[in-house]
Amino acid sequence: MKARWPDTYVEVVALGPLVAIPALEDLLRLGADKATLLSDPAFAGSDSLVRTRILAEYLRGVSFDCILAGAQTADGADAEVPPHLADLLALPQVSNIIRVDEASLVEGWPLVDVDEGRLQATYRIPLPAVLSLKHHHAQVLPHVSLRDSRADVGDRLHVIDNDQLGLPAHEVGTQGSLTQVVEVLDPPVRQREPRFVRCNAEGIEQVHAFLQSRGLITHTTAFSPSHVQGEQVVLVGRRPKDPPGDIRDAEILISGGGGVAGSFDELQKLAAVMGGRVTASRRAVDLGVAARAIQVGQSGRTVSPRLYIALGIDGAGQHIEGLRNIESIISVNTNRHAPICSISDIVVEGHAREFIERLCRRINEGTTAALEPH
Ligand SMILES: Cc1cc2nc3c(=O)[nH]c(=O)nc-3n(C[C@H](O)[C@H](O)[C@H](O)COP(=O)(O)OP(=O)(O)OC[C@H]3O[C@@H](n4cnc5c(N)ncnc54)[C@H](O)[C@@H]3O)c2cc1C
Repeated sequence: MKARWPDTYVEVVALGPLVAIPALEDLLRLGADKATLLSDPAFAGSDSLVRTRILAEYLRGVSFDCILAGAQTADGADAEVPPHLADLLALPQVSNIIRVDEASLVEGWPLVDVDEGRLQATYRIPLPAVLSLKHHHAQVLPHVSLRDSRADVGDRLHVIDNDQLGLPAHEVGTQGSLTQVVEVLDPPVRQREPRFVRCNAEGIEQVHAFLQSRGLITHTTAFSPSHVQGEQVVLVGRRPKDPPGDIRDAEILISGGGGVAGSFDELQKLAAVMGGRVTASRRAVDLGVAARAIQVGQSGRTVSPRLYIALGIDGAGQHIEGLRNIESIISVNTNRHAPICSISDIVVEGHAREFIERLCRRINEGTTAALEPH
């Protein structure tokens, strides 16, 4: 953005211990004009409400057009902070943003695309506002060039402690926090115990309920206050989400193998209603029904979607090798003993084509109303 509009002034504001300084220096070397670190031993142990108050206290004294915030911190997840910050600063706010139209941002009335599950909405927001962006692993900052890596940026870095902010000591840190971290544990390794269902109305209902419980199909969340705050925020439109360009960026993969080679194109229907991408086993690629670029496995791509639906895929070791850290797996197979079934959360025993037709119909039942702008 600085390259296109060099007059834009960017200040990076962080809250944390002094170890954050090298990261802020790198952001200055990448083009930010100023970096401010709010740091004081008294802030240690602050919960997210107190962290938001500290940030708000600093920001009240700063003039800005727009606050761009993230959903995650360097060491955790703090998606509740931006909406609460907007409350404290009495600003409009939109979260779960996947794209900000830079030209309209510069004009002062930005258009933003918001991820609403299967749908994508566009909002227009009056400035000043808080725009909260959703984490996306493809959106990574470039590295600092070797030439810039030694640039002295110390004069643009400011550390502000609580003496300067002036918050009462009993309102910050563990003293001021209503919630405290008691213990931090590694998540347990999840054992999958497949649930077997048939490809009938009852089985599809169970699949649908499973997808909803994991937040993998949401008919609409657009008017939830956690997404949008502020009466002047205008809903411009809502449409099915754009499919991601690369299968590795997709949150939902609909994958087909030898068992669906005769009807591979049908997979696209399910991908469209679920906002996912179609992928394939090597058998489907070798049979000429799928492109090599969408092959999953040892000699294809390694993927980590939130949901992997394997249709007519047996689950050979070379295929499974391409599946990493997948939250949920559903397999549809005429053979309940196929190896893929043992690593699935739900196994639908039946024909893939029938499953696609039934699940598409079930999902579509809840969608029509959500597409209408209110
Ligand atoms: C060096 C090497 C590298 C490889 N790399 C890869 C790789 O990257 N990716 C990869 O996928 N494979 C790879 N393979 C191939 C792998 O070994 C398997 O041959 C391949 O994965 C099989 O694909 P499949 O499960 O889709 O097909 P199949 O083995 O033909 O299995 C079809 C499945 O569909 C089921 N079925 C049949 N009809 C239906 C229906 N109507 N509805 C529902 N289910 C049905 C069947 O019960 C069966 O489980 C590699 C092999 C080698 C030797």
